[in-house]
This record gives sequence, C-alpha cells and structure tokens, in this order.
Amino acid sequence: MAEGCIFCRILRGEVKGEVLYNDGQAFVIRDIRPRAPVHLLIIPVQHFTYLTYLNQATEPMVGHLFTVAEEMAKREGLGANGYRLVMNQGKDSGQEVAHLHLHLLGGKHLGTMG
Ligand code: AMP
Ligand code: ZN
Repeated sequence: MAEGCIFCRILRGEVKGEVLYNDGQAFVIRDIRPRAPVHLLIIPVQHFTYLTYLNQATEPMVGHLFTVAEEMAKREGLGANGYRLVMNQGKDSGQEVAHLHLHLLGGKHLGTMG
C-alpha cells in the first residue's frame, strides 16, 4: 500500500472509483479516460510499481492478472470478438501510474499495433 498512489487510494475508498471486481489479489476498475468502449484496469492489490522489478516470486501475481482479465472480458461480453491487453513500462510507453496494471481494451475493432 502506498500513501499517494491513486490506485491504492481507490482501493481504500479514499477516491471515487467503482471497484468492479476484487478477489483479494487483484481488483478491477474502469479507466477514467477510456480509449475503447470497454477499458478496464486489472491491478494487483499489493502496491507493486514497475515491470522492471518482476522476478520469479512475482510470477503468480502477474499470471493472476491475465486470468482476471479473461474473466472480465467474458463479463463485459468481449468473448466472441476478442480484446487487447496492454501493460506499460516506463517513459517511452507513457506510463502514468507507478502501480502495476494491465489495460483491457475492447468493444470495437482496435486496429493493428504500431
Ligand atoms: P498507464 O499510462 O499505463 O500508467 O495507465 C494509467 C491509466 O490510469 C490511464 O489510462 C489513466 O486514464 C488511468 N487513471 C488515472 N487516474 C485514474 C482514476 N482515478 N480512475 C481510473 N483510471 C485512472
Ligand atoms: Zn498503489
């Protein structure tokens, strides 16, 4: 848990933001600036900053984010048409929030990457 972290603050109920899912390991909110009709953020409950610091011990935590993403995609009705998962790391990616999170985007044709 980190004092000023926006995602930790949402989880603690200090900042407005609906938590759509929480299993104690990961929670899910809607992105405040959606880039697609469905834009969710899958976030580990534990405050963990950057992909750079992943190691063998954090593999289950990261793997769990993907399992939750697939579950949320089903709940949001994206199963048939698919979706995109994105995780940003550092300056060149435009990463804004220093609490690891997986973007789930869908609900329209997202175009090719690049
Ligand atoms: P990233 O650029 O990968 O760090 O993504 C951070 C995401 O968090 C951005 O897409 C923001 O729109 C989103 N975001 C920032 N503040 C909030 C908030 N209070 N509630 C929901 N999403 C937020
Ligand atoms: Zn945090």
